[in-house]
Amino acid sequence: MTKRVVLIGHPVAHSLSGAMQQAAFDDKGIDAAYELWDRAPIALPDAIAEIRSEAFLGANVTIPHKERVVPLMDRLTDEAQATGAVNTITREGRRLIGHNTDVPGFAAALDQLVGRAKMPRQALVLGAGGGARAVVYGLIRVGFQRVVIFNRHLHRAEGLVKHFGRSAAHMDLKAMPWHPSIIESELAKTRILVNATSIGLTGDQSPLPGAVLAPELLVLDLIYNRTRLLRDAEAAGCTARDGETMLLHQGAAAFTLWTGQPAPLELMAGALAAARAGGLRSAEGEPAGDEPAATAAG
Ligand code: NDP
Repeated sequence: MTKRVVLIGHPVAHSLSGAMQQAAFDDKGIDAAYELWDRAPIALPDAIAEIRSEAFLGANVTIPHKERVVPLMDRLTDEAQATGAVNTITREGRRLIGHNTDVPGFAAALDQLVGRAKMPRQALVLGAGGGARAVVYGLIRVGFQRVVIFNRHLHRAEGLVKHFGRSAAHMDLKAMPWHPSIIESELAKTRILVNATSIGLTGDQSPLPGAVLAPELLVLDLIYNRTRLLRDAEAAGCTARDGETMLLHQGAAAFTLWTGQPAPLELMAGALAAARAGGLRSAEGEPAGDEPAATAAG
């Protein structure tokens, strides 16, 4: 019987994860189908209850459910526990295990962003949702000394800082109010800027005015598209990367968890590129419009 794997999010329309995972299942001769489930927060518990059945290999979880799904799991891996967020679920009998493969996904994206340069020690993170938790955890793990988090709702950034309190005891991890002049002055002290908000996901907006971006900055937008932020960063002379590498590597790690097999990384990368060229949209970063999508950075 064909096994089922589902992506649970809101929205999930035209997800690139489906193209990438289905190509990998087919390549490895695994009889499984990847489905997209658009579920509002109120429907999340029922969706989670449904995937306990034998018909399912597991699931991905995306915006806006990565934190909300945590208490619905029977067990969390160390990374899911440490981040307080789950993006991948596996099943052992009727028990559900919550994993966080955004963590290795972000590690790969950070390595690519920094390249051969020395790993910086200061970062500014915009956003405090499920994606931001994997980012902050990754920055702590590689030895960043100062990480400042800005979020529209300050209390959520404060909650994130509190969550990481013990693991960040040796460093300066701060939540600050989203105010343009404070962001600008903090940006002047940092080398890395990560956008982990969904600003730019469905419209052509940027979380920051382009004028505050200095050429020395390394800019990563988790959104899988050439957002306005990335276009402004390139225009300012910054090194700029989109969320493609993170999406690919979190997906490859999830594939291995569901199937026990190494992921066909190149094939998955090709399927992602083909899906993007075909104009599909990603649950992890919907193109802002025809023009930016067509010229999306790779
Ligand atoms: P969440 O729903 O958990 O968090 C959304 C974040 O965006 C919050 O910080 C929220 O702030 C902020 N936000 C949303 N709208 C606005 C707005 N209009 N103005 C200011 N802030 C806003 O989502 P995730 O953390 O799961 O995802 C965040 C982004 O990261 C998405 O675009 C997602 O596609 C991307 N992502 C990409 C990945 C990849 O593999 N490339 C992996 C993970 C995430 P507030 O708390 O104030 O509402």
